Amino acid sequence: MAFTLPPLPYAYDALEPTIDAQTMQLHHSKHHQAYVDKLNEGVSEDPSLEGKTLEEILASISSQPKKVRNNGGGHWNHSFFWETMKPGGSAPVGRLAEVIDDAFGSLDALKKKFNEAGVGQFGSGWVWLVADHDGQLSIVATPNQDNPLMDDAPVKGTPILGNDVWEHAYYLKYNNRRADYLNAWWDVVDWEKVAERYEGVGQSAVAELA
Ligand code: MN
Repeated sequence: MAFTLPPLPYAYDALEPTIDAQTMQLHHSKHHQAYVDKLNEGVSEDPSLEGKTLEEILASISSQPKKVRNNGGGHWNHSFFWETMKPGGSAPVGRLAEVIDDAFGSLDALKKKFNEAGVGQFGSGWVWLVADHDGQLSIVATPNQDNPLMDDAPVKGTPILGNDVWEHAYYLKYNNRRADYLNAWWDVVDWEKVAERYEGVGQSAVAELA
């Protein structure tokens, strides 16, 4: 069963003016498609990977070749990224809003720390808001297409929010100004989706205790 490119949950121009339509189209139909295609190549070259979920592959990525690492991470990260955004964005509410205040002091403080981690990632990579088994939040940047689901990640956990800081994510509109892109991006974050992911982390922790 080959991996496939998920359809974008909104139109290519739906995140304008924060992310321009041309960037979205290239990012989804060319970059993400290429990760999917090369991941399928990598899987077809290793029969032991047949039938595994992407999460299972990432959980043992340290034993895989770079092709599977980079393209498996690329497919997972981008599928996650499209769903992290929605036209018009939203604001955190409920339990997640309280946990953010407890962990960072305020939403603005979270954004500041997240943006700094994104600017500070040398070269290409991602910046994540990650929840551990207890629901504790932390911010971490990872290089290339790595993510916190990989068994050799420096900070492991469940990503609930992530932004792509590869130049292909912002260069057409923001040129070299990664900080401006990171600042603007909050306008299209779907915090309801982030809260849903956070609630899922809590449920799996409870399930493990039961
Ligand atoms: Mn990307």
